[in-house]
Amino acid sequence: MNLPQKHSVTGTNIFSVMSGLATQYNAINLSQGFPDFALDEHLSKLLYDAACSGYNQYAPMPGLPVLRQAIAKDFKNRYNITVDADTEITITPGATYAIYTAFTAILLPGDEVILLEPCYDSYLPNIEINGAKAIPVSLVAPDFSVDWNKVKNAISPKTKAIIINTPHNPTGAIWAKSDWDTLAEIVRNTNIIIISDEVYEQLIFDNEKHYSVLEHTELRERSFAIYSFGKVFNNTGWKIGYSIAPPKYTSAFRAIHQFLAFSVNTPGQYALAMHLESGLAGAVGKIMEQKRNDFISLMQNTLFTIHKPTKGSYFQVASYEKISDMGDLEFAKWLTINQGVATIPISSFYKDKKDDHLIRFCFAKKQETLLNAVDRLKRIG
Ligand code: PMP
Ligand code: GLN
Repeated sequence: MNLPQKHSVTGTNIFSVMSGLATQYNAINLSQGFPDFALDEHLSKLLYDAACSGYNQYAPMPGLPVLRQAIAKDFKNRYNITVDADTEITITPGATYAIYTAFTAILLPGDEVILLEPCYDSYLPNIEINGAKAIPVSLVAPDFSVDWNKVKNAISPKTKAIIINTPHNPTGAIWAKSDWDTLAEIVRNTNIIIISDEVYEQLIFDNEKHYSVLEHTELRERSFAIYSFGKVFNNTGWKIGYSIAPPKYTSAFRAIHQFLAFSVNTPGQYALAMHLESGLAGAVGKIMEQKRNDFISLMQNTLFTIHKPTKGSYFQVASYEKISDMGDLEFAKWLTINQGVATIPISSFYKDKKDDHLIRFCFAKKQETLLNAVDRLKRIG
């Protein structure tokens, strides 16, 4: 029996492929985005305490009230915006799931969704699984800024949504306030919904400010904002995130969520709530900025070229033009197998696999890991 192919992306996704190769060839894994250092001991103790104190059964479908209230307070503190914990926040098993759920809540077959490429690899299949069509618009290198005329031209009567990601995976580009204003102008007399993937909101460098869609009063009314605790507390494996959206959107989101995961890991939610409430959670942005600086300066001793230092996220894009003219996937595999450093080829973030001979390094690693990796990279050539 032939089973249906529900989206156009065939084969195994790039994060599994490259992390798998890294394990197989004992390479240093700078591919998939995750920190290799321990999480805050306070948070791990809270998880233990939560399990010992009986927080082990199903949480309420929208998430533990204490966690939703802690998030609302956190947004008041950090952005000075009011979020209703009961009607606007839903806790999810990670941001990838939240993005899928938001798409599933809003898309009907035949709808179109604009995505800005390169982009996180789940967006495209998520759109297609829902019977909708992805309309890719390329960001403009080397800044990976938005060409607003191209976005305008991509809009049709079928456009249901546009998905945004700032700080941006894989390029580390960030949106200025003016980008949000331009987007608001473009969607003003339409019913286009915004999905704003802000998972790296706290990983932003050089004293830049992250502008959230939630701060834009006009856009907020038509937006889902998506977050992931994994990127804030160095615990990507906990897979806990959340969506913030106006009550009507949140109801539609929960209508899907209640029949998909229904609820999220209870002790993890409790631990995160207590950690947020404790005020002991350190600022991860400064630590990651230091890692970016160290990584970029170490890379000066290699043949890789960094055209633009990343402004946010875990990632730095680099060109290998002085080393090889291989395609980026082939090069990333060669680098893993022969030089012992795993990375991600940027072509995997494009629908048509556009290959500009760029790879992505994840620098969210211990100093020792970065030093060892760059030592290996220095030997090339
Ligand atoms: N969006 C972007 C842009 C990402 O890079 C990631 C990767 N982790 C996610 C969403 C997913 O986050 P989570 O691990 O919470 O599913
Ligand atoms: N977001 C992470 C990255 O871009 C990985 C997520 C995943 O493995 N699906 O590397």
